[in-house]
Amino acid sequence: MLFDFLEEYYPELEKELGGKFYYPMPYLRYFASQGERDNWLKFMADEEYKSFLGDVIDESPIEGVTSTFWVGLVKRSGWVDTNALLDLFKSYFIEKEILIEDKFDYSLMHFVDGKVSYKNRVADKVIFAEGYGIVNNPYFNYLPLKATKGQMLSVEVDALVEDSIINRKVFALPLGNKQFKVGSTYEWDWEHEEPTPELRIDLENKLAGLIDLPFKVIGHQAGIRPSVSDRRPLIGLHPKHPQLAVFNGMGSKGVMIAPYFARQFANWLNGLDELDKEVDIVRVKV
Ligand SMILES: Cc1cc2nc3c(=O)[nH]c(=O)nc-3n(C[C@H](O)[C@H](O)[C@H](O)COP(=O)(O)OP(=O)(O)OC[C@H]3O[C@@H](n4cnc5c(N)ncnc54)[C@H](O)[C@@H]3O)c2cc1C
Repeated sequence: MLFDFLEEYYPELEKELGGKFYYPMPYLRYFASQGERDNWLKFMADEEYKSFLGDVIDESPIEGVTSTFWVGLVKRSGWVDTNALLDLFKSYFIEKEILIEDKFDYSLMHFVDGKVSYKNRVADKVIFAEGYGIVNNPYFNYLPLKATKGQMLSVEVDALVEDSIINRKVFALPLGNKQFKVGSTYEWDWEHEEPTPELRIDLENKLAGLIDLPFKVIGHQAGIRPSVSDRRPLIGLHPKHPQLAVFNGMGSKGVMIAPYFARQFANWLNGLDELDKEVDIVRVKV
C-alpha cells in the first residue's frame, strides 16, 4: 500500500516541481552470513514480503564485489535525492510567495480566540515538523522522541559499476560521476551532532569488506534521525491546544513514510480521512 502510493507520488511530484530527484534502481543485498540468506529464503514465500524479496543468486553480478553467501535481489527499490528535492520545494514555495525562512521562536506564539498568532500573522493551526528540533518545543517536547545519530561517507570509486545499490553491513549508493554515498551508522548515545573519526573508520572498514576495489573518501556527514521507541510516527493535535499540530517521528524512514502520512494527515485535518491510530499522538500520555 505504502509502495503503491510512493511509486505514483514521487514521479508526480517531479512533474509538479519540474526537476529530477527520484531514482528507481536495483538493490542487491549481499548476505553477510548463511543465516541472513536462510531468513531471506524463508520470508520470500511470505505473502507480505514476496513483492519485495526477489530471487537469490550465487554469482555476484558486479565486478569487485564478492558474493560469499550469495545475493538477494530487492524488488521495487530506489532512492530519493533529498537535497535536490528540498531545493526544488524551496524554489516552488518562493515562487508562490509562501516561504519565510526563519527560526521559529516559540515565545512569540500566542493563542487568540481559538486561533494562534505569530508575529504579524493569525492562523487556525500551526503544524510543527521540526524533526529532532522538537526537543526545544515547549508544547510537544513531552513526546517520546529518541534522537538517533547517523553518519555517512561520500566516496569516489573508479572501477565500481553505477547501476545498482549494493549492501552488505553497509550500503553503497551510486550518485553518478563515480561518486557513492556509503552508510549508515546508528548511535543512540552521542555527545554532539558532528561527524566523528571513529565512525568514519568504521564505515571505511565496512566498505572495504563489501568491495574489493580502491576508494577515496571525499566527504563525511552526520545527521539526527527523529526516532520513536514504538517505531511509529508522532502525528496529531496537542491535547490542550488543538490549534497546534505535530508531524514528526519519521525515524529512519522519512523518505518512505512522510508523503503517505502527510497526505493522510492533511485529509484528516480537513475532515476527509481517518488518522491511523498507530501514528496518532493520543497514544502518548502527557
Ligand atoms: C545518516 C542518516 C541516514 C538516513 N537514511 C535514510 C534513508 O535511507 N531513508 C529514509 O527514508 N530516511 C533516512 N534517514 C532519516 C530521514 O533523514 C528522516 O526520517 C527525515 O529527515 C525526517 O524528516 P523531518 O522533516 O521530520 O525532520 P528533519 O529532516 O530533521 O527536518 C526538520 C527541520 O526543521 C528545522 N527546525 C527545527 N526546529 C526549528 C525551529 N525552531 N525553527 C525553524 N526550523 C526548525 C530543522 O532545522 C530541520 O531543517 C536518514 C537519516 C540519517 C541521519
